[in-house]
Amino acid sequence: MRSFTFEAAHRLPNVPAGHRCARLHGHSFRVDLACEGEIDPRTGWLVDFADIKAAFEPWLEKLDHYYLNEVPGLENPTSENLARWVWDRVKPNLSCLSEVTVYETCSARCEYQG
Ligand SMILES: [Zn+2]
Repeated sequence: MRSFTFEAAHRLPNVPAGHRCARLHGHSFRVDLACEGEIDPRTGWLVDFADIKAAFEPWLEKLDHYYLNEVPGLENPTSENLARWVWDRVKPNLSCLSEVTVYETCSARCEYQG
């Protein structure tokens, strides 16, 4: 598993009237990408951590210090939708990807397994 962090602003457009998440605010997001599979007997690893980073980095650049609501596909940027957004983009280049976890705060996270 490899962890990434980024800063971004968002607001949730579809929450009930008066909900605090409807207001513009920011988070220090954390994204964990977990891989699953057989360990290569020669290398002794399942995947090079650098390969996980390489698969996610181009997408991380589209999130860090952006207003997530303006990122295509994240018009309703809940943690759930963000986890699925990451999965859909990283999985094609990282076949061992088994779980995307999005931490909106230290104590609130969403896990997605495709
Ligand atoms: Zn929020």
